[in-house]
Amino acid sequence: SAQKETLEFQAEVSQVLDLVIRSLYSNKEIFLRELISNASDAAEKLRFEALTDSSLFEDDPELRVRVLVDKDAGTVTVSDNGIGLSRQEMIETIGSIASSGTRRFVEALKDRQGGNQSNDQSGEQSGNKDAATDGTLIGQFGVGFYSAFIVADKVTLISRRAGLGAEHGVCWESDGRGSYTLETVDKPGRGTDVILHLKDDEKEFADDWRLRSVISKFSDHIAVPVEMLKQDFRSDEEKEKDEDKDKAPEYERVNTGQALWMRNKSDISDDEYKSFYKHISHDFEEPLAWAHNRVEGTNEYSTLLFVPKRAPWDMWDREQKHGVKLYVRRVFIMDEADKLLPHYLRFVKGVVDSNDLPLNVSREILQHNRKIDTIRGANVKRVLGLLESMAKDEPDNYKTFWKEFGRVIKEGPAEDFSNRERIAGLLRFSTTVGEGDEQDTSLDAYIERMKEGQDKIYYITADSPAAARHSPHLEMFRKKEVEVILLSDRVDEWLVSNLHEYKGKHLQSVTKGELDLGEIGAKEEKEKTEQAAKEHEDLFKRLKDALGDRVESVRASSRLVDSPACIVVGEHDMSANLARVLKSVGQ
Ligand code: ADP
Ligand code: MG
Repeated sequence: SAQKETLEFQAEVSQVLDLVIRSLYSNKEIFLRELISNASDAAEKLRFEALTDSSLFEDDPELRVRVLVDKDAGTVTVSDNGIGLSRQEMIETIGSIASSGTRRFVEALKDRQGGNQSNDQSGEQSGNKDAATDGTLIGQFGVGFYSAFIVADKVTLISRRAGLGAEHGVCWESDGRGSYTLETVDKPGRGTDVILHLKDDEKEFADDWRLRSVISKFSDHIAVPVEMLKQDFRSDEEKEKDEDKDKAPEYERVNTGQALWMRNKSDISDDEYKSFYKHISHDFEEPLAWAHNRVEGTNEYSTLLFVPKRAPWDMWDREQKHGVKLYVRRVFIMDEADKLLPHYLRFVKGVVDSNDLPLNVSREILQHNRKIDTIRGANVKRVLGLLESMAKDEPDNYKTFWKEFGRVIKEGPAEDFSNRERIAGLLRFSTTVGEGDEQDTSLDAYIERMKEGQDKIYYITADSPAAARHSPHLEMFRKKEVEVILLSDRVDEWLVSNLHEYKGKHLQSVTKGELDLGEIGAKEEKEKTEQAAKEHEDLFKRLKDALGDRVESVRASSRLVDSPACIVVGEHDMSANLARVLKSVGQ
């Protein structure tokens, strides 16, 4: 059956084609990722089948993918020497919805359309809205090959199954509008060539540099070599003069193929980790610490996470990018995957590589994916564990870490309820014990030093370290030698309004409500206060009258030792410092 025949796509294929082109239009360059990923799959399949039948390698054992450009013809070709497709396989896979991902996609699509019968009459407006929903749908399923039609108005696929004779090549061709042709051709080399005839306005892709940059962006870590024609910097004249200009073209590898995270921990040196970190983070400094893990089972994935030494310049920018890249089976999917770690760990850089997510997973899908939730939860635990052991075993590194990222970690208790206690254990503060403003006291150290009978962790918030340290509210605490945590970072108010307790000890502001030093406040003070209240009743009344509504009450206090008076807010009122902070940001 050497003659050319025309076959109709399975009805759903046309539908999918249409959607893919419409929905992925803003993300055109992924066509190359999809085709290279298919070529790499085909190479892996051959490697696997050849385990039991080495003759499949024929005389061409070096598996590789080649990307070729023909500027004049306006074509890009992705060529592999993998397993290839027979005529029947071609009809089953490319002409119909064989791949299970695509099939599920079409089913989901039908479900959606079943509930929306007026679809046919939808005008331009609602058509666009549909494209957005379909884009989300597409993200869930693999529709890889058809993405070729985003940039091409005609696609030619020439393939020969490994093990079949050269005369069993098949040429498939389509403009993506309902039908395709099949023709038997001679193909000496095993594998598949996918030739994209670029649309007029997509000719930018017929460019060596453009393709190289897309390949290193998306396919750098694909294990099989991705090659392009070796660059030739000679002038046309020089090339013409070259005596053996008819010699075979030379190729060079474009992807590094280094998926460090897939290797065994024990085989990787510290230097390799460090240089990999620099590669992915574009940081000149070495990382402070890293965690490398592989998880097996129903949700298989690998993670390699780094804690940098310096905060990026834009860490306080609301739009700040997250540093974790998402891969699926070694194929790069997206940068800044903010669903892989919470916001308070946004300084972490690294890679998550899932074996179980679909290649076309989108940001929308990441929002509600149980596998991603599991990965995220485990990532948080790993980073917290990494920081805990740094604090314990490498105190100098932890100091550096705290200086750079402490204020970010302080956002943690508000954002991550379930890990609140662990995050609190990582916090460091300056306190009334010690002179400097360095934040180096943990809550555990504080608890260790608590006075006999003390059952609360005391703190004061102010707008500067000096204001905190010299507050009159601290007088009685000094006298009693009760340590008070001094808080003056902007985020501190937010922190204490979300962290009420640590290891069963209540966190108590020294500026709020009745001062109660518990057992430490001796009876004697209490009596003195009560006596003062009686003696000066008239004075307090006159002060209250003078201040009117500006104060709730004027009363005697055991708080002060040297200062005559101070202002106290109610236990449940906003602290004076928070009021100041909010005012300064215009609230
Ligand atoms: P997926 O890769 O998720 O299966 P694709 O649409 O990317 O979906 O590809 C559909 C099918 O077409 C593949 O499963 C494979 O059987 C076949 N195919 C695509 N490209 C190649 C290739 N280069 N070599 C061999 N088979 C291929
Ligand atoms: Mg694919």
